[in-house]
Amino acid sequence: MAQQDTDQQHAGVLPVDDEGFVIDTGETEEREQAWRRAGTARPITVVGNPVLHKECKDVTEFGEELQQLVADMFASQHAAEGVGLAANQIGVDLKVFVYDCPDDEGARHTGVVCNPKLVELPTERRRLDDSNEGCLSVPTAYAPLARPDYAEVTGQDEKGNPVRVRGTGYFARCLQHETDHLYGYLYIDRLSKRERKDALRQMAENEPRYAVVPND
Ligand SMILES: [Zn+2]
Repeated sequence: MAQQDTDQQHAGVLPVDDEGFVIDTGETEEREQAWRRAGTARPITVVGNPVLHKECKDVTEFGEELQQLVADMFASQHAAEGVGLAANQIGVDLKVFVYDCPDDEGARHTGVVCNPKLVELPTERRRLDDSNEGCLSVPTAYAPLARPDYAEVTGQDEKGNPVRVRGTGYFARCLQHETDHLYGYLYIDRLSKRERKDALRQMAENEPRYAVVPND
């Protein structure tokens, strides 16, 4: 009964658990497919494109235009075989990201976050994981980057309802990486000078496997 009450109170798109976090692991394939089939894949912006290097605008309208943008983002993410995509990666200056990403237990998480804010965690919960990270906007490059292995994000869903999303492992990395994008930061901005240079060299030496927006 308590569970049902919670569901009724929460008008959001996804159900929530008893701590108030969205349950984004249900019907992932169906939801992801429905989004991407309603959308069109767009080419991906790459490092150097100004839209990637400044804070995006807040989402204030949760109408049809936003729904189409989210559909296009899912289509683009799928075409580029990404696990997360921020709106500025298809050239749109708005704080929205989508994700379709496994966590440290292999559970697939799928969802949309508008106006995300990363929750500051107490130091005793911060455990760093230095796995490899890559980005569709830095095609073909990878570099190890230490990040907390757990993350929480607050924001709104595609209808404007407040949401809280949490994740572990690779999904925690994804939540941090995508939120960074919307504030104008790429993961290579967090690398040492030498590692950043190496990532850019990897990018210059290889062809992306998906369509990108050429820089001027
Ligand atoms: Zn990225």
